[in-house]
Amino acid sequence: MRVGIGYDIHALRKGRKLVLGGVTIPHSKGLFGHSDGDALFHAVVDAALGAGGLGDIGEHFSDREKRWKGVSSLVFARETVSLLKKKKLRVFQIDSIVVLEGPKLSPYKKAMRDNMARAFGVDLSRVNVKAKTNEGFGAIGKGQAVAASAVVLLEKL
Ligand code: MG
Repeated sequence: MRVGIGYDIHALRKGRKLVLGGVTIPHSKGLFGHSDGDALFHAVVDAALGAGGLGDIGEHFSDREKRWKGVSSLVFARETVSLLKKKKLRVFQIDSIVVLEGPKLSPYKKAMRDNMARAFGVDLSRVNVKAKTNEGFGAIGKGQAVAASAVVLLEKL
């Protein structure tokens, strides 16, 4: 077994879609970024890469590369799975936290877990999403950003 930790934060801006865990969530603002800005997927990808000893998301999916512009973060997940496979590893378990002041994620958590389970090839029972607010503190508390962190456990193939 190998374990990795991941973290990400993206700004909330008008005129962007809010995509978290691959789910488009109705909101007045969305996450700004080179890709779809899906902070949850980015945190999980970083945790998985870390667990595999494969560096970080910026090394593999640079925001300076045109081919990643506007892409769904599900693509990063699939690429990560194939990088892990080359090292004879696969994702066994995902736990994650999304920190945002709103909207409430409870109606979307199941779909977010489904997307992560499918993208990373993990049984749904071993994929978890927790959501919490920042109690009004800082940029997240003011609704200007969304952060996510994740822990990923890998197993040998
Ligand atoms: Mg990111």
